[in-house]
Amino acid sequence: MPRLLIAGPPGVGKGTQSAILAAGLRVPAISTGDMFRALKAAHGDLAAEVQAVMASGRYVDDDLTNRVVAERLLRDDCAPGFLLDGYPRTLPQLDFLHRWLAERGLAIDAVIALEADEEVTARRMAARALLDGRPDDTVEAFRVRLRMYAEQTRPLLDVYEEIELLRRVDGSGTVDDVAERVWAAVHP
Ligand code: AMP
Repeated sequence: MPRLLIAGPPGVGKGTQSAILAAGLRVPAISTGDMFRALKAAHGDLAAEVQAVMASGRYVDDDLTNRVVAERLLRDDCAPGFLLDGYPRTLPQLDFLHRWLAERGLAIDAVIALEADEEVTARRMAARALLDGRPDDTVEAFRVRLRMYAEQTRPLLDVYEEIELLRRVDGSGTVDDVAERVWAAVHP
């Protein structure tokens, strides 16, 4: 029953690797970023607010994010396990997730931390900006996202290291190389 998290700085390849790993493990890959991007099609104040926050590179409100994730984890496809990509990103989210799981007799089995030099991630972001045109792939939003990661999310790795869930994986090189390392980290 793999219940896993994948973490790492913007541009490190979390989305790509989580799709490959989740397919291999036959569990759903759940990306809060994708879920928020899907709100684009929705109308109303909430959707507009989430879009504005995302475009700036800042984080969406913790309570809203937690509610979206909890609702998603209750769906049947999560019974065999799940891979959360880009969540939790703050300490209140981490607390919420672990309490929510514990209330159901569940726990996270491992946290994959993808690591790469800023030079590598910046290059990947520039490539993605050309290919996908994501509104938060502007130079300014990328700078904000790097800062948000360093200030709010990076400290979570220390928590996971402390409770011995952290598996650090070198995220440089080709997609296949990284996927192999990720697989090995999940199957030590
Ligand atoms: P991502 O696709 O994971 O890079 O997420 C894109 C954007 O969605 C982030 O820059 C945030 O604005 C928002 N977002 C995604 N996940 C979270 C989260 N766990 N907490 C708050 N905001 C999030």
